[in-house]
Amino acid sequence: MTKKEKKNYMEITFPSLSENEAFARVAVASFISQLDPTMEELTDIKTVVSEAVTNAVIHGYENGEGVIYIRTEIEGARVSIQITDYGVGIADVSEARQPLYTSKPELERSGMGFTIMENFMDEVTIHSQLNKGTTIYMVKYLKSHQQKQLAN
Ligand code: ATP
Ligand code: MG
Repeated sequence: MTKKEKKNYMEITFPSLSENEAFARVAVASFISQLDPTMEELTDIKTVVSEAVTNAVIHGYENGEGVIYIRTEIEGARVSIQITDYGVGIADVSEARQPLYTSKPELERSGMGFTIMENFMDEVTIHSQLNKGTTIYMVKYLKSHQQKQLAN
């Protein structure tokens, strides 16, 4: 018999400081650890949270003051992560998603953040409005969790 999967979520809000990137990554990873992810799944999730939070700090707020909001939801093997900033927004989202596209080549960014998010997650959705901000929604289905449920 399949067990009813519980829904769970967490929300955090913190100022746009690069010191908080490590905190955000560990906070999300520690929340999803109740699903018993593999090391690889955990590393993927930490990496995408880092990429999205770094983008909010350096692009969204251009290293200025601002607030970053993260909501993580889990239900069964499904992990969804929302990362929002209220910064400058993205003028052309499809251009921004292109591999190697960066608006800050002078900072030696490689333009791979969104590509990494797309490779490591099953779904990546970007909502952005100029001068209102940007929200990234990402979903990943943890294979480790699905397999465990089948075995039980
Ligand atoms: P890298 O991530 O490799 O260091 P990058 O940050 O420029 O370089 P991406 O993360 O793929 O590359 O982002 C592509 C572009 O999308 C950025 O250069 C920036 O112009 C825009 N962008 C990304 N996130 C945001 C955001 N939160 N707010 C405003 N613009 C953003
Ligand atoms: Mg980036």
